[in-house]
Amino acid sequence: MTQRYLFPPAPVVALPIRGLAEQFPVQRLFFVGRNYHAHAVEMGKPVDKSAERPFYFTKSPQTLTLSGATTPYPSETANYHFEMELVMAIGKPGFRVKAEDAHDIIYGYASGLDMTRRDLQLAARDKGRPWDLGKDVEHSAVCSEVVPMPGQVIERGAIELSVNGQVKQASNVDQLIWNIREIIADLSLFYHLQPGDLIYTGTPEGVGAVQPGDRITGRVEGVGDVALTVGPKA
Ligand code: MN
Repeated sequence: MTQRYLFPPAPVVALPIRGLAEQFPVQRLFFVGRNYHAHAVEMGKPVDKSAERPFYFTKSPQTLTLSGATTPYPSETANYHFEMELVMAIGKPGFRVKAEDAHDIIYGYASGLDMTRRDLQLAARDKGRPWDLGKDVEHSAVCSEVVPMPGQVIERGAIELSVNGQVKQASNVDQLIWNIREIIADLSLFYHLQPGDLIYTGTPEGVGAVQPGDRITGRVEGVGDVALTVGPKA
């Protein structure tokens, strides 16, 4: 007998895949914090890779928003920020994956935005509180279609973001503090990575605030474009 539910269950969260009719069903959304030196410095928290390990936060899969959308300017913030990021799409299970084997669980990549209530994130950070209200924001995990690149490790490529046509972020993926292999190796010590997991790899310097009506466009060389229009206040 088919399972019955008290109310309709939430739909499967998924992304289109370039060149395929099938969609990429999304499991978890992981985000690497402070993974470009110049961004860590602008956040007032420089990173010493020799003495530190990467850190992560997560967002609910329900925050995933397909590139091209118009989403409301969120409630309870006066400092809503863009962060342009390269996104990894995991295609195979992986636990305690060695860096040299990391390519094996990569299905592909996407271009993403880690939209952030910066005022609430920094207030939480400075009080030692969780970042959820600053980061796990409705509609805040913006993502392009997934580009199949199975087994490929992206080591370099321009990463750029503009607001209303004006360039705000311009860096290169070769500036990642912890690279693709190192992120998979480290994160998979804590989680059994699964097909459908997305890993946002961090943002370069130049983050900033948006206003209702702003149009954000970004790209990662060799992957593709991402866009978001900020709608009226929620
Ligand atoms: Mn980020």
